[in-house]
Amino acid sequence: MEKTIKEKNPPDEYTEALLDALFQSDEKTAAAAPEALIREVQGLFEAAKTASLTRPIVALFTRLKGIKARHRLSPDVLGLSRSDLEALAEVHRRIDEHGVTVGGRVHRALPIVEEADSRVAAYLKQKSVEAPSGIELWDTIRENMERIRSVLGMSEADWNSYAGQIKNCVDSPRTLSRILDLPAPVIEEVTRVTQSYRMRLTPYYASLIQRGRVNDPILLQSVPTAEMVDNIGVEIPPVAADHSPARLIDQFYPQTVTIKATNMCAMYCTHCLRIAHIGKKDRIYSDSAYQEALDYIRDNPRIRDVLITGGDAFVLPNRILRKILKALDEIAHVRMKRLGTRIPVTAPQRVDAELLEILEESNDKKPLRVVTQINTAQEITPVSREAFRRISKSVSAVLNQAVLLKGVNDSRVKMWRLCETIQESYVRPYYIFNCSYRNPQFAHFRVPVEQGRDIVESMYGNISGDAIPRYIATAGGKIPLHRDNVMGARGTDLILKKPWNDEEVPYPDADPEQYANAQFSFARKREA
Ligand SMILES: *Cc1c(COP(=O)(O)O)cnc(C)c1O
Ligand code: SF4
Repeated sequence: MEKTIKEKNPPDEYTEALLDALFQSDEKTAAAAPEALIREVQGLFEAAKTASLTRPIVALFTRLKGIKARHRLSPDVLGLSRSDLEALAEVHRRIDEHGVTVGGRVHRALPIVEEADSRVAAYLKQKSVEAPSGIELWDTIRENMERIRSVLGMSEADWNSYAGQIKNCVDSPRTLSRILDLPAPVIEEVTRVTQSYRMRLTPYYASLIQRGRVNDPILLQSVPTAEMVDNIGVEIPPVAADHSPARLIDQFYPQTVTIKATNMCAMYCTHCLRIAHIGKKDRIYSDSAYQEALDYIRDNPRIRDVLITGGDAFVLPNRILRKILKALDEIAHVRMKRLGTRIPVTAPQRVDAELLEILEESNDKKPLRVVTQINTAQEITPVSREAFRRISKSVSAVLNQAVLLKGVNDSRVKMWRLCETIQESYVRPYYIFNCSYRNPQFAHFRVPVEQGRDIVESMYGNISGDAIPRYIATAGGKIPLHRDNVMGARGTDLILKKPWNDEEVPYPDADPEQYANAQFSFARKREA
C-alpha cells in the first residue's frame, strides 16, 4: 500500500519545470527530427533505463535540454513521452542518497555550477601568465641557480646551507650586476640608493628573479629603488617608542605581546615596516635583554600569546631560539607562541632537522605557530614548499601575512594565485596588510584601501574560504578593512549581499525577544 503511494510520487517542482521546458511546444516541434538525433537519444534512453547510476539519467536529460535549446525539438518528436521521462526521474530520485531529483540536478544545480564556473574562467586562463608560481618557473629558476652559484663560486654544499647563503649574500650593486642582466642605469640607481639603504639578497632569493625583467615581483621586493630615497622628505614618525613597555617588547593588546628578538633578516625587504630598526647594522642582543623581556611577560599574568619576531625569528641561532621557547613554555600563563619568519621563502636552507626538532618540542608543550610573509606565488618554489611542509608537521599552524604591494600582488589574479599557491604549500592565508602610510620610503608601493577591498572581497565564493585572508590596516594595532555585506533591513529580515555576484538575500535574524528572555529547556525543568 505504502509502496504504491510512493511510486505515485509526483515529480518535484524542478523536474516539473524541466519537463515543461522540454515539452513546451513551438513551431518546430512538429518538424521531423534528423534520424541521427533520434538514434542518439534512443541510445541514451536505453542506457538510462537499465542504469543503476544517476549519471546516464542526467546525461539523457542534459542532452534533451541541449537539443531543445539548439534545435527546438521536444522529446516526443525524438520518440520519448513525458511519462517515460517521469518514470526515469523517479528512478533518479530513488538512487540518489539525498533524494536529489533529476530536475534539481539538471535544471538547477548544473546551471548554478556553470554560472559559478564563469566567475573563475578568466582567472584560470590568466593565472599562469600573470602570476606564475615558483613551481611553474622552476626550470628557469634552476638555470638561474646554476648561473648564480657559478658566478659567486659557491659549492653545492655552500648553496644548500644557510651559512653558505648568508656568507655569499648579494649586498653590492657590483655583485647584483654580475648575477642579473640589469640595464646599466638600473645598476647606477641601485648604487646611489644603497648608500642610504641596505641591500641583501640571499643567492637563493636572487635566483627567483626572472632575468631582464625590471618589474619582477621578487626584484621589486629585494632591490632598493630610487623611490626609497626620492620619497624622503616627510619625517618618519617614531615606530618603536610608543608601544614598547619593556626591553624588546611591543604591546598593543592586553593579552598578546611581541618580542623583537633580533633586528636581523636573511634578506632585507624594500617594503619593510620596521625599516628604521631593521637592516642598518646586524646586532646580537645580550642575554640580559632577553631576560628583561621574559621578566616582563612573567610579571604580567594577562599575557597568554607571545610572538617572537624581529627581524626574523629564524635568524636566531638554534640555541637562543630553544632557550626563549623553553622559558615561555615554563611560564604558566603563556598559552601559545608564534614565530615570525620570512626565512622559508628567503633562505629555506635554514630549516634544518635541529630547528624542526626545537619547534616540535615546544609545540608539544603548548601550541606554536609559524607566521610567515609570502607576497607573490613566485616565492613558492619546490624548495620553499618543502620547507613549509616540514615546518607544518612540527608546529600547529603555518600562517601567512602578506603585504598588499603595487606591482607585486595588486590584482585579483595575482592575489587569488598567491592565496591558492600558499594554501597548496601547507600555509594558511591569515592577513593581507594594506601597505602602511608611516614610512615614506615605500609610498610607491601603496595600493588604495578600496582596491584592496575589491581584491579581497572578490575571493569570497570563488576560492576556498580557507584560502581567504583578512584585510587589515596597521595603525596602532590591526584594524579590519573588510566591506560590510549587511546592506540593511526589511521588516525582521536583514538584507545580505553575496560578494561574488551582488545578489541580495533576506536573512532572518535571531528573534531579539527570544534571545533576551527565553530560558533553555533544562534550566526551565530545574526551576519547575
Ligand atoms: C601584529 C601584532 C600582534 C598580533 O596580532 P594578531 O592580530 O593577534 O595576529 C601583536 N602585537 C603586535 C605589537 C603586533 O604588531
Ligand atoms: S623579513 Fe620582515 S622584518 Fe625582515 S626586512 Fe622583510 S619585512 Fe622587514
